[in-house]
Amino acid sequence: TTRVRFAPSPTGYLHLGGLRTALYNYLLARQDGGKCILRIEDTDQTRYVPGAAESLTRALEWAGVKFDEGPGIGGPHEPYHQSERLDLYKKHADILIEHEHAYRCFCSPERLSLVRLEAQKTGRTASYDRKCAMLTKQESQERADSGEQFVVRMKVPEGKTIIQDEVHGKVEFSNKEVDDSVLMKSDGYPTYHLANVVDDHAMGITHVIRGQEWLPSAPKHVILYRMFGWEVPKFAHVPLLLNPDRSKLSKRTGDVNVEDYRDKGYFPEAVANFVALLGWHPGSTDEIFDMDGLTKAQSNAVVLREKLDWINKMHLLRRAETQQGLLEMAAMLRPKIEADLSLNPKELSNDYIARVIETLKERIKNIYDVPSLCGYYFQTPSYSSEESVAYRSKVGDETLRTVLPTALAMFKANSGELSKEDAKQALKAIADEHKLKLPVVMNALRYTVSGVKVGAGVPETLATLDGPQVQVKFVTRQR
Ligand code: GLU
Repeated sequence: TTRVRFAPSPTGYLHLGGLRTALYNYLLARQDGGKCILRIEDTDQTRYVPGAAESLTRALEWAGVKFDEGPGIGGPHEPYHQSERLDLYKKHADILIEHEHAYRCFCSPERLSLVRLEAQKTGRTASYDRKCAMLTKQESQERADSGEQFVVRMKVPEGKTIIQDEVHGKVEFSNKEVDDSVLMKSDGYPTYHLANVVDDHAMGITHVIRGQEWLPSAPKHVILYRMFGWEVPKFAHVPLLLNPDRSKLSKRTGDVNVEDYRDKGYFPEAVANFVALLGWHPGSTDEIFDMDGLTKAQSNAVVLREKLDWINKMHLLRRAETQQGLLEMAAMLRPKIEADLSLNPKELSNDYIARVIETLKERIKNIYDVPSLCGYYFQTPSYSSEESVAYRSKVGDETLRTVLPTALAMFKANSGELSKEDAKQALKAIADEHKLKLPVVMNALRYTVSGVKVGAGVPETLATLDGPQVQVKFVTRQR
């Protein structure tokens, strides 16, 4: 069975590209009943950021990526933090030294920077000059025993290494270009290359799906698998995410942290749907998927955030199809309304917020648009905006004074129990009674309840607004 893993280093937040990689792993495992493992690659002490592993886990959970094994979940290959598996790496480094696939390197940092400079000058890709590869076994052992500091380097054999990549096809590397990379550092921690290969083997990983930035490391890994005599997993190096100008995706042009999208009111399934589609061809024009759809469906990817807005809207409409979906959205939106409009939480019911979302669903892309665009559903408008003032002068105070008391009486009588049709009929009656055109009455009412031009139609708006709320607004207006 398929066993895949997402193996983040806890150096920061979950990047959009990281979510995509995690998702592809998760979806592959789901597709054929395999297992998806979370492994925390925390062996680089210099890059460790406290709390990063927790924030990565939180973001993955939010986006709906579920793991079968991992920290906090457990599984047959515990522990899932590499920092807790140091003995295993040490043991494997020793095996490689033993079989002369690796050697101790005692070179000082000063020497190494000179060697690196030299390599740069001569255009050599593999930077280390292999000085310590020439040491005899005995000499190496003696220096180690005497307490001299060393790292362990892999001894890259001659020849070439071919990666059969699921995305890039056959990629060939000349081993001359592959550095004798460090496998164990002097602090006893392994490097990424060793720990990654040892763990992928130990955890029975069948497919390595990861970002394209790791493709240059792949020959080192394949060489290591061969040295150990292990089966090489399948590789898929997924293309990078790019800004619309084809530069590498960065903060500069928008959010890259997955949790920023959560904080902006995007639905988790919309964000997952969006990133999964980047560089993925579902083979149909139907681009809206939930996790089930993504599992069944099957280039460098430019990230167009307008597309996320569109996908989010589609998921909004989908959620709005059921009362439960509306109530869930209401619960999500409620703290945002309270915070943005400084409302007393007690004044708002989820039922009411759900009704507001239902009324506005065609006009918004994101539920977080509601407080800023349509705050009038929750509080008396200020009427002081330029738009509002212009609107009022167009409608005329005379009309407002004539229409409002009647409308108020009507809504009071119906105490919010008005259907859209009923509301429309009632407004028509008011218009007739005052010998006014219906649009004039509509405008007057829209101004009164919202103070703005945008929003749902007047009858829907009035039908949605709570009876008492309408009263408050109308009374305020008349004052
Ligand atoms: N720890 C690596 C990272 O942070 C994992 C790369 C891989 O999946 O092999 O991206």
